Amino acid sequence: MIGVVVLGSTGSIGESTLDVLARHPDRFRLIGIGANRSVEKLAEQIERYRPAYAALADPAAALALQERLGARCGDTRLLGGPESLTELATLSEAECVMAAIVGAAGLPSTLAAARAGKRLLLANKESLVMSGPLLMEAVRAGGATLLPIDSEHNAIFQCLPHGSIAGSTPAGVRRVLLTASGGPFRDWSLEAIAAASPEAAVAHPNWVMGRKISVDSATLMNKGLELIEACFLFGLPPDRVDIVIHPQSIIHSLVEYIDGSLLAQLGSPDMRTPIAYALAWPERMTSGVAFLDLVQTARLDFRAPDRVRFPCLGIAQAAARAGGLAPVSLNAANEVAVHAFLARQLNFPGIASVIEEVITRSTAGPIGGLDDVLAADTEARRLAHECIEARAGADVALSAGARA
Ligand code: NDP
Repeated sequence: MIGVVVLGSTGSIGESTLDVLARHPDRFRLIGIGANRSVEKLAEQIERYRPAYAALADPAAALALQERLGARCGDTRLLGGPESLTELATLSEAECVMAAIVGAAGLPSTLAAARAGKRLLLANKESLVMSGPLLMEAVRAGGATLLPIDSEHNAIFQCLPHGSIAGSTPAGVRRVLLTASGGPFRDWSLEAIAAASPEAAVAHPNWVMGRKISVDSATLMNKGLELIEACFLFGLPPDRVDIVIHPQSIIHSLVEYIDGSLLAQLGSPDMRTPIAYALAWPERMTSGVAFLDLVQTARLDFRAPDRVRFPCLGIAQAAARAGGLAPVSLNAANEVAVHAFLARQLNFPGIASVIEEVITRSTAGPIGGLDDVLAADTEARRLAHECIEARAGADVALSAGARA
């Protein structure tokens, strides 16, 4: 029996992971689940799956969970506070940790799981974008096994020669190609995109995902973050990672070899496939995902990304090329801008403008240690809030001028 901890269990990836695990009770034992403040959902998961440990990072929510469950906790030990997720990530009973917390909040527990030598199933792409060199070093030093969950990187991993390990460049690879659905605004005009609402941005045509990554897909920042992620995972420079728009989301990504071969991984757009692959690796097991009917699929389309309508992609590529702490500023500014967009404090094009301005004003340089990463993250968040406030102030002044 393999012991598993699921961090971010109340989210989209977390719930898909619990679904896959529940299909294989003879193979996996759920040791721990953790989230931030979703009291009701975590309580339901505790009652249903009976893990040994459950944690909420938010201390008030952890207290509310304790009150909500009372004696119905059974044998589940409840933990609370941000460090409780790191505690879960390093439990000796768990060999395998699913890192599925969204955003920079996932960094400490992801690093802890790597240092503790776990089989690390990495969905939290932001931790790799922020601290790629540090996370890869923690994986090496801790003797961890890093398996990508992002469907694109999981697809690439499946297309690489057997025995490839994260961080080393596999022999014979010319480049990797990340496919992108293009998001909900793929065929929208620049004018329509400028007026896009949060509701439209989170309505992804092919995938069911959390709100933040759904907006990242709409801006194409998700593909930019994935490009940076791919550079670290596969030991490649940014110019050997290409992006192609593939609206059907059937090919999840491709690897091009120097002999002209192009290997692709295909499947229904359902995250339970990469999750099951990483849980069972190097074996295979069922995932509950519908099998692909190629005749019904009929056609697969490809086109180049449009960098004018979707400037976030170019901004992310520039940050990848700059390296050092630039991806940290990119990630932090993006998180703040997306949050402001979802709260209707910023319009859709404002996301790219804020990120660009933050990167220009940031003083971040080369990456030394974790302290540098955290300082660059804090600075970029402060700058992003300043930009958003300045834009809101300018909008008020403009509309007052128009009324006058
Ligand atoms: P969701 O928004 O659905 O879920 C996020 C999870 O993170 C929830 O469990 C949430 O807990 C938890 N969380 C949020 N903030 C904190 C915090 N401060 N401390 C601790 N836990 C926190 O996200 P997704 O499942 O969509 O995405 C998770 C990660 O996986 C992201 O990094 C995303 O980029 C990546 N990913 C997702 C894919 C998808 O298909 N969804 C595909 C590929 C990658 P709570 O409910 O309590 O707020």
